[in-house]
Amino acid sequence: MKEALYYTYEEDKIKCHLCPHYCLLAEGQNGRCQVRKVEDNRLITITYNQVSAVALDPIEKKPLFHFYPGSQILSLGTVGCNLKCKFCQNHNIVHDTESRTETITPKEAVHLALDYNSIGIAYTYSEPLVWYEYILETAQLAYQKGLKNVLVTNGMINPEPLKELLPYIDAVNLDVKAFTEDFYREICKGSLNPVKRTAELVYQDILLEITTLLIPGLNDSEEEIKELVDWIATLDISIPLHFSRYFPQYQLDIPPTSIDSLIRAKEIADKKLDYVYLGNVEGQEYRNTYCPKCNKEVISRNYNSVQINLDGKSCSNCGQEIKVIL
Ligand code: SF4
Repeated sequence: MKEALYYTYEEDKIKCHLCPHYCLLAEGQNGRCQVRKVEDNRLITITYNQVSAVALDPIEKKPLFHFYPGSQILSLGTVGCNLKCKFCQNHNIVHDTESRTETITPKEAVHLALDYNSIGIAYTYSEPLVWYEYILETAQLAYQKGLKNVLVTNGMINPEPLKELLPYIDAVNLDVKAFTEDFYREICKGSLNPVKRTAELVYQDILLEITTLLIPGLNDSEEEIKELVDWIATLDISIPLHFSRYFPQYQLDIPPTSIDSLIRAKEIADKKLDYVYLGNVEGQEYRNTYCPKCNKEVISRNYNSVQINLDGKSCSNCGQEIKVIL
């Protein structure tokens, strides 16, 4: 346990300013994320140093397709999340605050990454932003050692803490759950606007990729996909977008997304964005990167290997620059 950052006193309560929920907490109470708590009149972070999942993963699994393709990254996660998505794919880890954790200090995490020859550390599996103090400290140490830091996040954070963290972050996969406030409120107990604001703060200096899990009837209408794509295009048409296939999980038992629906979403997005992928589906063609100008396959991804067919960072056929960090 460690004292948390970003809180104030409000009469006899404590207000957390880390995320847009602004929980107002009495002594002994936990925030909505379950991992920040008032104890002895201070806000503390329960999960500091506590890791529930650790693995060396392909960077493509995050998913990040334009950041050191083919590399491996040490991935760390813990419990806790500030959303309550009915379809949570990791609910066993995320919402079970009793689940087993082990102590890995920031220094130990950095040593692990170096020992494994990882390109860096990905903060993932649950919601890293409510693990804020730990990732800030670990990311700073990793940065000093020349390692990369990656966030896989729902983006529900306030601008001030985000701006303090971003100088140490190299890439972000942002989960945009849907493109309506109704969906965020009713299905996730959150809000879309702060997520958009996070993307807008991130994309100019840091590699940003966006993932949307398409759920039949809830967030996959043509109109909603067009709005999502238009918004991304106003930021930068070269932001990679991953549409991922939903399967029933946790509290949602709607049947899985049809492949047709995913392909239709990709066709809509392909009209405006340079790089659109499908996840959780068969077919290497949905995972490969194609040159946005001449359509040559420039990065090939099958399940075991990644092949880069670039001339430097440009298409070897037409010379078009490909947005990729190598
Ligand atoms: S980070 Fe947790 S405690 Fe803080 S406002 Fe968000 S949900 Fe509440």
